[in-house]
Amino acid sequence: MNIRLSKTKYLNGLQCKKLLWYIYNEPDAIPEPDATTQAIFDQGHLVGEYAKKLFPNGVEVDHSETFEAGLRQTRDLISKRVSIFEAALTYKRCYARADILEPVADDNWDLIEVKSSTDLKDVNYHDIGFQYYLYTGAGLKIDKCYLMCIDNSYVRKGDIEPCKLLKKIDVTDEIKTSYSTMVENNVAEMVKAINSKTFPQIDIGAHCNEPYDCPLIDKCWSFLPERNVFFLYRNNKLPMTLIQEGVFELDKIPEKYEISAKNQIQVDCEKTGKPYIDSQKIKEFLDTIQYPAYYMDFETFASAIPMFDNSSPYKQIPFQFSVHVVKEKGTKPEHFSFLADGTDDPRPEFMAKLKNVMGTKGSVIAFKASFEMYILNKCAEVLPEYQQWVDSIDERIIDLLQPFSDFAYYHPQQDGSCSLKKVLPALTGKSYDDMEIGDGGTASAEYCRVTFTEDNKDKKKVRKLLEEYCGLDTMGMVDIVEQLYSFK
Ligand code: SF4
Repeated sequence: MNIRLSKTKYLNGLQCKKLLWYIYNEPDAIPEPDATTQAIFDQGHLVGEYAKKLFPNGVEVDHSETFEAGLRQTRDLISKRVSIFEAALTYKRCYARADILEPVADDNWDLIEVKSSTDLKDVNYHDIGFQYYLYTGAGLKIDKCYLMCIDNSYVRKGDIEPCKLLKKIDVTDEIKTSYSTMVENNVAEMVKAINSKTFPQIDIGAHCNEPYDCPLIDKCWSFLPERNVFFLYRNNKLPMTLIQEGVFELDKIPEKYEISAKNQIQVDCEKTGKPYIDSQKIKEFLDTIQYPAYYMDFETFASAIPMFDNSSPYKQIPFQFSVHVVKEKGTKPEHFSFLADGTDDPRPEFMAKLKNVMGTKGSVIAFKASFEMYILNKCAEVLPEYQQWVDSIDERIIDLLQPFSDFAYYHPQQDGSCSLKKVLPALTGKSYDDMEIGDGGTASAEYCRVTFTEDNKDKKKVRKLLEEYCGLDTMGMVDIVEQLYSFK
């Protein structure tokens, strides 16, 4: 096979040679990127556009024609000593496009890799190391190597300022002394793996999600039984050991393995098929609830490029809340909700409307309440007139996650998770399964699509689905507490 290894495929090969084999030999087995992955790609593209603004005289190589035409144009621009975007070069079996090549003194070039992340990861070193190997092999003199990524301390004031949004990290030493020197051998091993008749025998492991979620997880992990040892709560190491020893099922873990008290509860529940209930702990939790009780849930979105003044990269912006108010224990809840509309910053209206419905006394109940308090405090930083009120909410807040993360209650159907999405169906039979919007990531993506893009013909329907989804979160919490009372 005539193999040309791009930097993306080189990184795929570093993650797993089995994945690389499939990419070349059975590409149809690789599923298309899902909406979340595609959204990450789109963010990366947008960040790249801002990076280019830092090089106003830069020229972008046109890759719309043939592969060779891109290479020719790159060589032409190199001879002209201009800043180049997407410069394409080949060397031996390798091919890459540099995000930015910047001409510097003595016929040298600086190599700049742009990422939408906020910090430097090992995979970035490998990425730049591959490019350094290739470009120097192709005859360029590279002086400095940089990762250009998002500075999450940036606070938007007016138009985006690319020089503040982006920061440059010098990785020259690591690249020259280490990461570029391993490329030749790595490429040789990858080519050998690609050319083998069958895929390399590689066990599943932590590498399946590191540095990226592998698109073949469903395929490679399909041998596991439905109820397997990866359900062990907050236990990353033992499942791999068990798999290597041929122990796959949660209820078949040999006693010689020491497991935590919570994991033991899981295993016991798995064997009996019945839930574990610590009535005393549940009572202690329920006794902290004071009525009227306000069940509260937020939906948020975040973007690499801050969309509003006084917001920062990847900082969560709340756009929706649902509140169910139970005036007295056992009475019918009253529902209040807010879903922002329009393209303005939703935070002022969100805070005003929320404050209106939250009353001044009684418990405020959220599931993983630290998130809701974080959002409120972040909003109060921008809208300080709310800080005192946020502090008062903090004094009233109760985390409904607590009895589940403490394993005061555990049901085998939770599958080792204490998330609301798992607890609610296990405890009440209500489920998110049939909902078109049934998780926070989809809610955020769909809200942004119909609010900030022109792909919004179904806006009315999406907003209705969002209302249903967020409403189920808080009504679900009401139902969970009702169930817990029955165990008291
Ligand atoms: S799922 Fe894991 S073992 Fe399978 S190809 Fe991906 S990284 Fe390799």
